[in-house]
Amino acid sequence: MALPDDPLISLRAELTVLHRTLVEAELVVWTAGNVSARVGGDRFLIKPSGVPYADLTPQSMVLCDLDGHPVEEGALKPSSDVYAHAYVYRHRPDVGGVVHTHSTYATAWAARDEAVPCVLTAMADEFGGEIPVGPFALIGGEEIGKGIVETLESHRSPAVLLRNHGVFAIGASPRAAVKAAVMCEDVARTVHVSRQLGEPLPLAPSDVDHLYDRYQNAYGQ
Ligand SMILES: [Zn+2]
Repeated sequence: MALPDDPLISLRAELTVLHRTLVEAELVVWTAGNVSARVGGDRFLIKPSGVPYADLTPQSMVLCDLDGHPVEEGALKPSSDVYAHAYVYRHRPDVGGVVHTHSTYATAWAARDEAVPCVLTAMADEFGGEIPVGPFALIGGEEIGKGIVETLESHRSPAVLLRNHGVFAIGASPRAAVKAAVMCEDVARTVHVSRQLGEPLPLAPSDVDHLYDRYQNAYGQ
């Protein structure tokens, strides 16, 4: 029997709450989207496949190894994006959480294969530059994970738009990854609206650096 302070139990509960956050932030509909959380060094928990958000429970989250295979007897089938998440965890030891959404504005940029340009201080803060677009890849294999890792290698952004698909966001924790997904949709919407009014002005790279450094290292309590 697991003890009540078992970190796996609290992580299952946190992951359930974070999935609710995606719904509240209107980043997901029906069963689309998912959050995962690294457990120790070589496991992660992820949303079960095709289960509506309202039906998610801590127990329904699927514990997988870093190849994306469930490790517990009788577990539900993991999200169809499980291999993409697994690839990210294998190649980015700094990542503790991964989020995937088809949030409307960000995905509209992805559908046009256009990065969201860094024209807002909030973007400089959170993303340290543009939110890049990664390659198109079919769901189900490792190609999506490879696209995420390779695209983010050359960017400070914790979010990437996968062409014709949607958003993947990463973070040191699952909560940080959810925050990046929420912020990604927020700035994608603002920059889109700005575009309707004219051409948004880019921030100077030195200002982006300054804002990013302050927000990442000095902001908050
Ligand atoms: Zn998707």
